[in-house]
Amino acid sequence: MPILEINNVTKEFGGLTAVSNLNLNVSEGELIGIIGPNGAGKSTVFNLITGIYKPTKGTIKFKGQDIGGMEPFKISKLGIARTFQNLRLFKNLSVLQNVKIANQTFAGYDILSAIFRNQKYKAQEKEIKENALKLLEIVGLSEFINEKAGKLPYGFQRKLEIARALAMKPSILLLDEPAAGMNPDESLELMEFIGKIRKDFDLTIILIEHHMEVVMGICERILVLNFGKTIVEGTPEEIQNSPEVISSYLGE
Ligand code: ADP
Ligand code: MG
Repeated sequence: MPILEINNVTKEFGGLTAVSNLNLNVSEGELIGIIGPNGAGKSTVFNLITGIYKPTKGTIKFKGQDIGGMEPFKISKLGIARTFQNLRLFKNLSVLQNVKIANQTFAGYDILSAIFRNQKYKAQEKEIKENALKLLEIVGLSEFINEKAGKLPYGFQRKLEIARALAMKPSILLLDEPAAGMNPDESLELMEFIGKIRKDFDLTIILIEHHMEVVMGICERILVLNFGKTIVEGTPEEIQNSPEVISSYLGE
């Protein structure tokens, strides 16, 4: 059984069909790429999977359970985490605080204990800090834990955003243009990073990305969207040789 099943999903905004009859099955452990021009509907697919938008039509199942239109925090608790195309870090907080907050949100922080600062609070606080430190070590940000997030070089901010998503202990990670704004060297480094966290955290990953060398380098299967519709789906080789993709997307 696929871990994620998207069946005939359509999303309309007024007269605009952002996603049209989308079908996508994702197996556990797979790394799938979604590419397509601006406005093709890629981010909308993530917003549908994470409950930010409710499908106009169709069903979305995660591990067999219908999650279409479920509240976003419930979906993230089930094990679907994401990053955003535009970074959403707390720029004035430290790197460590950024990860701790994500972890607290996930752990259902006990607010009463926090107010009274009792034993339970201290134990919870200690565990959250340890988890965050461990996570930051794995993603290679240990030396920056006390830096303000907004002061980090851009590539590290992208990694921190991913670390925050990993703090939710997901089984599926959705990455929306993680290499946006990176130069070719940085995006290749990010590609290796994605491969590493995939192994370390046993993840299924869906990756939206414009940097073709990244998508072609790590994805096993790629979906090409245009005007909300799938034009082609296939291996990197199939995509690169597809006449539809070459004419409509790569523009050659
Ligand atoms: P991509 O990520 O592929 O660039 P998006 O999924 O962001 O594309 O957008 C697909 C289309 O849906 C675009 O035409 C966009 O303007 C439209 N769209 C996305 N979100 C909304 C919204 N909340 N309200 C109205 N239109 C939207
Ligand atoms: Mg987008």
